[in-house]
Amino acid sequence: MTRKAPDMVEIRLRNSRTRKVETFTPIDPENVRIYVCGPTVYERAHLGNARPAVVFDVLFRLMRHVYGPDHVTYVRNFTDVDDKINARAAETGRPISEITEETIGWYLSDMGALGVLEPTKMPRATQYIAQMIEMIEGLIDSGHAYAADGHVLFSVASYPDYGKLSGRSVEDMIAGARVEVAPYKRDPMDFVLWKPSTDDLPGWDSPWGRGRPGWHIECSAMSYELLGESFDIHGGGNDLMFPHHENEIAQSCCAHPEGGFANVWMHNEMLQVEGKKMSKSLGNFFTVHELLEQGVPGEVIRFVFLSTHYSKPMDWTAKKAEEAEKTLRKWHGLVDGAEGGEVHPEVLAALADDLNTAGAITVLHRLAGEGDAATLKASAGLLGLLGDEQGQWVGGGVDLSNHATRLASARTTAMETKDFSEVDRLKAALIAAGVEVRMSKDGVELVPGPGFDAAKLEGVL
Ligand SMILES: [Zn+2]
Repeated sequence: MTRKAPDMVEIRLRNSRTRKVETFTPIDPENVRIYVCGPTVYERAHLGNARPAVVFDVLFRLMRHVYGPDHVTYVRNFTDVDDKINARAAETGRPISEITEETIGWYLSDMGALGVLEPTKMPRATQYIAQMIEMIEGLIDSGHAYAADGHVLFSVASYPDYGKLSGRSVEDMIAGARVEVAPYKRDPMDFVLWKPSTDDLPGWDSPWGRGRPGWHIECSAMSYELLGESFDIHGGGNDLMFPHHENEIAQSCCAHPEGGFANVWMHNEMLQVEGKKMSKSLGNFFTVHELLEQGVPGEVIRFVFLSTHYSKPMDWTAKKAEEAEKTLRKWHGLVDGAEGGEVHPEVLAALADDLNTAGAITVLHRLAGEGDAATLKASAGLLGLLGDEQGQWVGGGVDLSNHATRLASARTTAMETKDFSEVDRLKAALIAAGVEVRMSKDGVELVPGPGFDAAKLEGVL
C-alpha cells in the first residue's frame, strides 16, 4: 500500500486537553498511534457502550485512509480484572475466565455487527500485570506513590498538574466525587494502584503481597508498552475524563516524565434514549444484542449514531432508526454492483473537520440524489457504511409466507362467516410491524417496508 502524503488532507480535531480544535500533526506519520479505553468484560455491551467503539472506529478509518492502512496503530483494551467481574463470578458461581472470555466474544461480535473494525491490538489487562507492577515500583521510587497496608496509592499531591484535563481544581473534584476515605490513604484524593486480594479473588504476587491492580494503572501500562511514552490520540467517553483519565495522565506523566503521554484527548458525549438518560429504572435500557435480535440491522444503529456529532449527546429514537433504515435500503439498492469509486473530497473534508459525520452523511444524501453510485459507495465506506456484507439485511432473510397463508385462509373463512375480525387483527398486526399488505383476488402479498420490525410479529400467528 502506498501512503498518501499527509499534507493532502488537513485533519482537525477537538482536543479536550486544550479545549480547542487543533490541526492534527502525528508524532510519526509512519505510525499514527491511538489508544481508546475499552470495556470491562462482565456483561453485554449496552447501546451507550457502543458509541465510543463506533466513533473511534471512524477516526481509525479516517487515519488509515489518510496515512495508509499500515501506518496506524489503534489499541483498545479489555479490562478483564475488576471488582464487577469478581462480583458477577460470585453471584453466578462461574469461573472468572469463563465470564470474561464469553463477554469478549459477545463484545467483538456485537461491535462487528455495527461495522466496527477490530483495532490493531486488543490487550487484556491480565496479560500486562508484570508491566503494571514495574510501573508502580517506579512511581514509588520517584516519590509519586507509597505502599500502605498491602495497598499502593498514587499521591495526587505529588503531581501539581492533576485535574488539568477536566479543568477542575482538586477541591472541586473532592466535592463532586465519591472519594473513598480509607485509613491507609495519606490524602482522600489518593487513588489505588494496587490492592490486596484474598484467596478467593484473582491475585498476583507482588512486592506488596498477593494482590491485583487498580483500574487506572492498566491503561497507563498497556499504552506505554504498546504505543510508547508519547503517542498521538487518547480517546474515550467523557464519563471517563474524571477520575480515570486524570489518573492515567498522572501515572503516565510521573512514570515517564520525558514523554508527553497523549497529545490529543478526544471524548465522546453520552447516549440517551428518546430524550432520556438510559437507565434500568426507566425501562429504556437495552443492549446492542437485544436491538439486533429485534431485527434492527447493525448498519442502521451505526447510521443513527453517526448522524449526530460525537461531541453532542446522541439521542437514540425509534423514529431515527426507521428513517435510517429507509435511507440505507434505498442506498443499498443504488450501490448494488457499483465499483471503483473514489471517496468524494467533501466527505473526506467533513470527516477531517473533527469527525463531522453528520456533515459527511449530508454529502452522501446528495451523491445518492445525483445517482453517483460508485462515489456514494466509496464515500460511505469511509464511514463504515454500505459494505457488501453489510447489505445482506436488505430484502433478504424475511420470510412472511406463513403470515400470508394465514391471512389468505382467514379471508376465505371470513367470506363465508361475514366475520372479518381475524382478518382485521392479522392485517393490523402486520401493518404495525411495518409490513405492506397487498390483498387482491389473486391472493395475499406481504412486503416488509422500511420500518419493518420482525419482533412485533411475535405471537401474531
Ligand atoms: Zn483507560
